[in-house]
Amino acid sequence: MSPVEQWIAEKTGLNDNLSAESLRAWQETQLQKQIQYATNNSSFYREKLKPYSRLTELPFTHPSELVAQPQAFLCIPQHQVARVVTLSNSGTTPLRKRIFYSTNDLSNTIDFFAAGMKTMIQSGNHACILLSNRTENSLASLLRQSLLRINVSADIPGTLRSADEALNAVQDADCIVGMPSEILYLSCLDKKLRPKSVLLAADIAPQAVIDRIKENWQCDVFTHYGHTEFGYGCAVDCNCHDGLHIRHADLIIEIIKPETMQPALDGQKGEVVVTTLSNEAMPLIRYRTGQISHLINAPCKCGSSLPRLGKIEGRYQDFFPVNNLSSLNIHELDEIIFSNHLVRSYFASLRQDESSSVLMLDIESEKPVDISVLMNYIPGEIQVKINYTNADPFARRIKRRVFVN
Ligand SMILES: [Zn+2]
Repeated sequence: MSPVEQWIAEKTGLNDNLSAESLRAWQETQLQKQIQYATNNSSFYREKLKPYSRLTELPFTHPSELVAQPQAFLCIPQHQVARVVTLSNSGTTPLRKRIFYSTNDLSNTIDFFAAGMKTMIQSGNHACILLSNRTENSLASLLRQSLLRINVSADIPGTLRSADEALNAVQDADCIVGMPSEILYLSCLDKKLRPKSVLLAADIAPQAVIDRIKENWQCDVFTHYGHTEFGYGCAVDCNCHDGLHIRHADLIIEIIKPETMQPALDGQKGEVVVTTLSNEAMPLIRYRTGQISHLINAPCKCGSSLPRLGKIEGRYQDFFPVNNLSSLNIHELDEIIFSNHLVRSYFASLRQDESSSVLMLDIESEKPVDISVLMNYIPGEIQVKINYTNADPFARRIKRRVFVN
């Protein structure tokens, strides 16, 4: 069974009584405590929340509200803040969010990471974390602390300017943690490398990328869903790879239909909305993530009967409307283009003016590629131009997107 299940059983105190029903009841009690705490301590929620409300009656929290007044969300005195992260999004509207953590918040994250990582790594192994940097309490250093707790050593190379530097760093790793497109690129450059496992994080992982890394390195590939707003970790894969095991002891995840803003039915796609249950510095109630996924209530083959989060399929902001009927989205492009085994990496940019739209693809591949499948997906009014070039993702190091000129 996923080690996350064991962690939830212990953390909630439900132990052998843990089930989807007992968890729901436990979460309801925690939710009321978190609402009480947030209304007592944050000026934002004091005005917004009514105690004793059911989850679905509570108002949503929008990221723009967090951008507008981060201090209004803060529930602890400034001197008790252990870490502040400022985030700029990559979308069309520039947003800067400030996220606060207390020491307990960071320690909860380390706790969850340690449980999640047990799925893919064993005591005595070595990991290499190709994300973030070595700063105290950065994502990578929290992950390293969690690995030390399960007797796994970890390197954080920090700044990497090329795939060659990254390849040097990962040579001895049993587990490599990194962004999907970067890890795929490494696995194409050095197909002889044999890590035991790979964890794809910090961006959406297309199935084509997962499959090719597995094939190139003959290893197991895990995925993870995280958000800086909730202490990075929200859900993680198990060996069965059929949905992500949710951090139920600290979070409630809902799926909301965007047309009605009502909860989606089991298995129905919608927006991921997250409520924290134990955040001390910055509780967030029904926070709209903009990510698209679904919930899985059927038991996992690993033995867990708790709800899981389906594949993260993208962000609503990643859809660029081309006309009234069609849109372009980097994650769908990635699925199509990366499924071609000749392609190691590519960047996409869209040039639009009043009379034309041109999608430029800078592709690095072994040979020129057949783009007929891609052309079936691209709306007719978009011209596609391909430029074969070096496209080392380590030269840019950002989340996947269509660059708009
Ligand atoms: Zn499972």
